Amino acid sequence: MLQGKVAVVTGASRGIGRAVAIELGKLGAKVVVNYSGSEAKALEVVDEIKGLGTDAIAVQANVAESDSVQAMIKEAISTFGSVDILVNNAGITRDNLLMRMKEDEWDDVINTNLKGVFLCTKAVTRQMMKQRAGRIINISSIVGVSGNAGQANYVAAKSGVIGLTKTTAKELASRNITVNAVAPGFIATDMTDKLNEEVQAEMLKQIPLASFGQPEDVANAVAFLASDASRYITGQTIHVDGGMVM
Ligand code: NAD
Repeated sequence: MLQGKVAVVTGASRGIGRAVAIELGKLGAKVVVNYSGSEAKALEVVDEIKGLGTDAIAVQANVAESDSVQAMIKEAISTFGSVDILVNNAGITRDNLLMRMKEDEWDDVINTNLKGVFLCTKAVTRQMMKQRAGRIINISSIVGVSGNAGQANYVAAKSGVIGLTKTTAKELASRNITVNAVAPGFIATDMTDKLNEEVQAEMLKQIPLASFGQPEDVANAVAFLASDASRYITGQTIHVDGGMVM
């Protein structure tokens, strides 16, 4: 389905990003596995993708820093010749009640989760416009739609990602570039593991399908949005949340 395509997946050394990188690799894409932390984990993902019969490289970059992002996209193009798919997945949480939230907790989350999407999108746009084709998939969150106490920074960023998705979809449509978002609910990863059992039990009660999602559930939605099957869909947000927000 994605034979000959090149995908850049940010924050791909673990969790949802890892599952997305592997799923796109399974469908035949060559994958740039972006990481900011552990190179060893990113290289494991690269090996797994190569084992599927396609190609991958690990590239370190901080999505919140313009120079770093531009160097990553340059390396992707010089290694594989194009960028057909960008998955803006990298994200962090710094939860706190608004009254207690420190300015650096706000800045860190906005810089990674929102500015990072802007910088990576901007960095691939020239190449995708030249190609007259591209797929940009932004990982938002259902809390970006519903709001969530204790996450003002994260919710502002994830709502911003939905707005940015619609705007870039409108700006880039004439060049055959689609831009969509995926809004996961509660997915079992390192990000949610750190929530205490009481919070997890409370979350579970709010999920009609009565289980937490797996990273592969999000990866399947991303794969659809990266494929030709979604060619007429742009500016949309798909909820992958077991029915939690509807
Ligand atoms: P995770 O913490 O397991 O993975 C996040 C990844 O992003 C890590 O690999 C981390 O190194 C990377 N990262 C963080 N800051 C970065 C930076 N500045 N530059 C490059 N990479 C950076 O979390 P996850 O659950 O896999 O989350 C992936 C995405 O899905 C995030 O955007 C998150 O907000 C979103 N999301 C997750 C859930 C969930 O329930 N897990 C729900 C909704 C949305």
